[in-house]
Amino acid sequence: MYRSHTCGELRIANVEQTVTLAGWVQRVRNFGAMSFIDLRDRYGITQLVIEEQASEEVKSAAASLGREYVIQATGRVVERSSKNPKLPTGDVEVVVESIKVLNASVVPPFTIEDNTDGGDDLRMRYRYLDLRRNPLKEALQLRHRMSMAARNFLDGEGFMEIETPYLVSSTPEGARDFVVPSRMENGKFYALPQSPQTLKQLLMVAGYDRYFQIVRCFRDEDLRADRQPEFTQIDCEMSFVDQEDVLDVFERMAKSMFRELLGVEMTEQFPRMPYSEAMEYYGSDKPDIRFGMRFNNLTEETRGSGFVVFDEAEYVGAIVAEGCATYTRKQIDELTNFVKRPQVGAKGLVWIRMEADGSIKSSIDKFFGAETLAAWAEKCGAKAGDMIFVIAGERKRSLTALCELRLELGNRLGLRDKSKFAPLWVVDFPLLEWDEETQRYYAMHHPFTSPKAEDIPYFDTDPGKIRANAYDFVVNGVEVGGGSIRIHDHELQQKMFAALNFSAEEAEKQFGFLMNAFKFGAPPHGGIAFGFDRFCSLMGGADSIRDYIAFPKNNAGRDPMLESPTRISDAQLEELGIRIVEKPE
Ligand code: ASP
Repeated sequence: MYRSHTCGELRIANVEQTVTLAGWVQRVRNFGAMSFIDLRDRYGITQLVIEEQASEEVKSAAASLGREYVIQATGRVVERSSKNPKLPTGDVEVVVESIKVLNASVVPPFTIEDNTDGGDDLRMRYRYLDLRRNPLKEALQLRHRMSMAARNFLDGEGFMEIETPYLVSSTPEGARDFVVPSRMENGKFYALPQSPQTLKQLLMVAGYDRYFQIVRCFRDEDLRADRQPEFTQIDCEMSFVDQEDVLDVFERMAKSMFRELLGVEMTEQFPRMPYSEAMEYYGSDKPDIRFGMRFNNLTEETRGSGFVVFDEAEYVGAIVAEGCATYTRKQIDELTNFVKRPQVGAKGLVWIRMEADGSIKSSIDKFFGAETLAAWAEKCGAKAGDMIFVIAGERKRSLTALCELRLELGNRLGLRDKSKFAPLWVVDFPLLEWDEETQRYYAMHHPFTSPKAEDIPYFDTDPGKIRANAYDFVVNGVEVGGGSIRIHDHELQQKMFAALNFSAEEAEKQFGFLMNAFKFGAPPHGGIAFGFDRFCSLMGGADSIRDYIAFPKNNAGRDPMLESPTRISDAQLEELGIRIVEKPE
């Protein structure tokens, strides 16, 4: 027996017991004749004491210890004279009677404490050491409990967990595929699934009417803070359902997870917001509705005064920053620079200050009289003490810029409290999205998403108008999940492929297996997938998903610990029939 208790277990009730602990040496402190060791394992930290009267053997073993040594210590639990209220084990300590070094450690490259001195790259290179730290341990624990909660919920609802293969062929979710060369068929490649989308639909054809899988997905995209080349989904599909049935099950799943993991009760139905409304009032298909500050469309009101910026604008929109009339020139300049950054792309920022005394000042006083400004303010619901910000220009760009500005103001005004959760369903997405560059439509969700029945006639007249039975689950401005009711009819699926510019042959070549399956009695079906890593970071109150993944990749898509990707040997290449062409720098 290596240990009788863990390092997080001992309490005052254990006093007088003889115990054996095993763990890592977090720290050794020497006080003259006495020394103290903080012993750590996954469960916590317990203080060991080497007293003056300890045996020479114990003393010399203790003297040999360094940080991160793995030891086993046996001793008597005593009440501490100076207690540490910060540690759950802080009321007691163990007076060591024997000590054994199970393994030595070289000096770790950074301190293994809650606040470490190690930089990102170093900590990724030694991820197994970083994982010893509390913040990461807690993140992975939360992830584990979330996956158990999801599994239990779904099992309780009759869902079956079924695995699908990783070595597949291309599954179009709009990203680039990772591919794996085939040895047995040189020149051919498997693709790693961007999601199990088509496979879960085939499971519906097979009659497994409630499927789920906590599954890895692979997308070769440029990385951001909340993106990894491989990530995990809670992937689900159901048969004989319409949109409301799917939303009902997964709203209950989300609520049960919030309750179980965070003690957050969500009694109200989650709001359902049409995509068009989300864009019009928040400039985003994932609005953060923890706070208001909805957009006001002033395009009509602001026309015809000779102020070209407004006169020539496709869209003029305003938001009200409550209580911000006191903003200084400097603060306004900061916000102006913020919206003018290339990634936001506004041309400028107009402000209207609602002074406390009822007067109005603005950056456009030259063009608009107080009465006009007062009318706009009334439309926007602004009152004395508020500041109105206006952005004008091309519609899409202006909406995006206003969205960024709204979120920035939300941050500055403390309206985006991480312990508050504001979930909603965004519904009625457009089915297709027009791409100027390639002059063709793309599926906004994916090619298997069903159009709303009443919009099907638009396939022949105005495909851009078709709304989809698609939905996103959004919390605090984060898209946590998304899904749709699928097309289950062979002919409608063909219509969809045609709208996406697939020739009949191309469609047959890429999706023949699915189209064919649809001829054998495909039930009506639909589903959803939750971005599990993102869901974890949201519940954990973090901005990045990395802490919730045991072994993540860095921003360049590399794993600095495994040093992957790597070159492979000439023999391996030979076997695969692959020749590498070096790209010029
Ligand atoms: N496969 C979709 C995705 O990964 C989710 C779904 O439609 O169920 O976004």
